[in-house]
Amino acid sequence: MTHRTPLIAGNWKLHKGPQETTTFAAELLPKLSNLEGVDVLVFPPAISLQAACDAFRSTVVQVGCQWTSAHTRGAYTGTNSAEMAREVGCSWALAGHSEVRRDLNGTDERINHSLSTAFGSGLLGMLAIGESLEERNAGQLEAVLTTQLTKGLAGLTPDQIVSGAIAYEPLWAIGTGVTATPEQAQAAHHFIRGFLAQHYPPYVAEQTRILYGGSVKPTNAKELLAHPDVDGALIGGAALNADSFATIAHIAQG
Ligand code: PEP
Repeated sequence: MTHRTPLIAGNWKLHKGPQETTTFAAELLPKLSNLEGVDVLVFPPAISLQAACDAFRSTVVQVGCQWTSAHTRGAYTGTNSAEMAREVGCSWALAGHSEVRRDLNGTDERINHSLSTAFGSGLLGMLAIGESLEERNAGQLEAVLTTQLTKGLAGLTPDQIVSGAIAYEPLWAIGTGVTATPEQAQAAHHFIRGFLAQHYPPYVAEQTRILYGGSVKPTNAKELLAHPDVDGALIGGAALNADSFATIAHIAQG
């Protein structure tokens, strides 16, 4: 079986300004000093990216932007470009988080353009997808994931997809304290990998990392990460605390 390096990513949402970011980095880094074989990534708010990139430079922790515009520059007040995120020192861009889909008019098309621009600017893109509870209960899980994957990944090259990541985040599990059971997560991840196998050369399904997101905590990470198609986690609440985030990274090390 292909080895996929686990990826543990923290989505800080609208938490941690520049000063708190610097303090948090000083607290987190010693806790990761003996971590091996796990990639670690944080998505701070845009205003804290410079502080994060400075604090985490040349460390095990990579930094990404939570949402980058499909445009590189121009009259787009209130957004951030992938090129600018790269200039600050980011290496990743998240696209399609459900809060962006909900609050910032994150349609599949805009998410796709954001991802292509991010890759084109030298960032690695992480596509977040996931169904609502109503969609799951109506038996639409696979149809929703298929649409989000088809539209979200449109036009990306196999190499781009492999270098980035996909985050499966069921909406009903984000910030709710309700986690998908490890079996539900594995089933959705298996479906996503099957989609990749169907539409791209075999190495894409074999090598692309699929992260689970939705109320991941130190107490449930082991069970989730034990499943063969769960290659890491995208963590909100538990990523804000250095102890719990570092603990999950160590759990991923196995
Ligand atoms: C998220 O914001 O991507 C997330 C999964 O949040 P939480 O871990 O708090 O559910």
